Amino acid sequence: MIRYIVAFIVSALIGTALIALYFHSACAQKIDAIGERLLLKTHAFYDAVISTHKIAAQKDYNHLISNPEAMCLLQSFKYADKEDQALIRGELFRLMYRQYDEMKVLHVRQFHLHTHKGESLLRFHIPYESGDCLMELRTSIRKANTELISVSGFEGGRIFPGYRYIFPIIKEGDHLGSVEFSVAFEAIEAELKSFMPQSDFQLIMTKESSFDAVFTRHQRLLSPSLWSEAYYVEASDLSRVNREIKSNSTISRLTALAKATPGFEKRLQRHERFAVPIVMDEEGYMVLFEAINNTDNEHAGYMVGFTQEPMIRAVKREYQSYFFATATALLLMLLMASMILRQYRRSQRDQKSLEALNVSLHQANERLERFINLQRSIVILTDGKRFSFANRSFYDFFGYENLQAFLEQHACICELFVEHESFFSLSKVKEGEAHWIESLLNLPARQRIVSMHDAQGHPHAFAVDISHYDETIYLVDFADISETMVEKLQLESLATRDQLTGAFNRTFFYASIETIHNLHQQNGLLTCILFFDIDHFKAVNDTHGHLVGDNVLQVLAALLSAKNRKNDYLIRWGGEEFLIVSGTVSMQSGIQKAEHLRALVDAHSFEIIGHLTCSFGVACGDAYHTTETLIQRADEKLYEAKAAGRNRVCA
Ligand code: GH3
Ligand code: MG
Ligand code: MG
Repeated sequence: MIRYIVAFIVSALIGTALIALYFHSACAQKIDAIGERLLLKTHAFYDAVISTHKIAAQKDYNHLISNPEAMCLLQSFKYADKEDQALIRGELFRLMYRQYDEMKVLHVRQFHLHTHKGESLLRFHIPYESGDCLMELRTSIRKANTELISVSGFEGGRIFPGYRYIFPIIKEGDHLGSVEFSVAFEAIEAELKSFMPQSDFQLIMTKESSFDAVFTRHQRLLSPSLWSEAYYVEASDLSRVNREIKSNSTISRLTALAKATPGFEKRLQRHERFAVPIVMDEEGYMVLFEAINNTDNEHAGYMVGFTQEPMIRAVKREYQSYFFATATALLLMLLMASMILRQYRRSQRDQKSLEALNVSLHQANERLERFINLQRSIVILTDGKRFSFANRSFYDFFGYENLQAFLEQHACICELFVEHESFFSLSKVKEGEAHWIESLLNLPARQRIVSMHDAQGHPHAFAVDISHYDETIYLVDFADISETMVEKLQLESLATRDQLTGAFNRTFFYASIETIHNLHQQNGLLTCILFFDIDHFKAVNDTHGHLVGDNVLQVLAALLSAKNRKNDYLIRWGGEEFLIVSGTVSMQSGIQKAEHLRALVDAHSFEIIGHLTCSFGVACGDAYHTTETLIQRADEKLYEAKAAGRNRVCA
């Protein structure tokens, strides 16, 4: 069971993890696509803004070169000595500082003139800083003054980094120097915000293009960015944008969260252009990193955009619900599968235990069979009609090889029950009793005795014990009680037989007459009493002695018994008086029977005495006649026969 639970949990965990992984990557892909779209959009706006400023710078440049006074001063400057140059510088400033003021309105922060050697000629934003050579430091200035081409782009500088637009100044083929218009990031940011009002933008610059490039005294105008030590921002006392960013708590938190995302540092180091999706306070944000190259086409920093993006939250929610639905479905499926598996295992177990039960039943049956075979008594299994099993004693007793051989000769063991008054046999099965077993069960236990002949033809007596094997099958045990039975019968005959003649006595008559009478009624017979008495027997005794008289009595009883039908009973009533109880179909057949017996005696030649006769009185009756009545009637008829001359039958 525990193994089963562990397997369930492990597969549920693995399944859920796989689903989570799948939805996580699907969600990340979709969010990446949103980030990419936002990056493209920002880039497009940024490009547009930069180009606008380029057009403005071009206009300012045109304005300068079409000013003959300024061009004249610049040409003079080229050829003047140092002292004159200072004067000319002053004149130039006075000539154009108003133009610079106008430029500032359009966000130009730096208006800078350079000599043809690439030295600072006049910084309108810091007029007293000049003369320093910018050739090495500023690619744009070098290109403008050596290749005489206009250059634009982001670039660091001695004072401020910025977006530069540089043009060479040439008067009638004389290269006089160059002019630079530089736009502060504030200007770019303000215009980007007009396109993307829900967003904030920040410029972060590589240390090389900012901190390392400016005059040492101006380094205080730059401070390390919160993103990384490799990037600097303009100090917040100088930059409105950074002031705003610094005081915006949402941006501070977004910064912290974006910085904490895996692989963030690496992406910065690789100067990748990327987007970081963030869900904060149930709101979706995207932090965009638009890489900026300088005029040398080297990485110079990032324009970082913070923009609200509700789609992120929506996508995450969508995938979360997909995940929960799929995970729930998976769990349900696993649960169902495990239940089915369990059911299957249980049925397999049941099957096995059933087989084991069958095996043990079979073994139990075998044991039972062995046990039954060891029994000395005959044991059979039967439903009362057919029988399915018999033990070894059965085969030994009857001399059959097997059950088949027995069944070819007999349908039922009950067929072998000897018909005898002392034993149960098939003739004793009463109406309404389904079979012999039921009849036996209806008898008192001590009367459940049958007699059967063994293979050698010797009769045996069996006490029958019946028990239920199952609902319809009986286990019938025949215990051989022959020896006990003989003793019993001997005792019985003492009680019920006349010792001299072997005929039944009066005790037997009175004990059994009612049963006999009932049996006759059931079979539709009359009960006839044939009362007879030896004629002049006194004379036999007197002539031949008492012993001869006794012998005559014995011979007579034997003679009449032999001729008796099976169900006729010869009873010595007393002295030389006998009666026969017989079931007959009519009075007439009773009389005929008496006549037949009379003739038999009459015809018999007895030893010593020779001829002898008997007189008969016959009375027959049915259910309405009592035994006493019949005896009395038969006695009267016998008296009549005597009176009528003896050796005759009266009825
Ligand atoms: P009838 O019946 O023809 O009138 O004449 P009977 O001589 O037979 O008459 P009765 O009944 O008077 O005589 C019966 C005799 O039977 C009397 C007795 O001596 C004899 N008897 C009775 N029992 C026995 C017995 O067990 N053995 C012998 N030997 N004789 C017996
Ligand atoms: Mg008599
Ligand atoms: Mg007599």
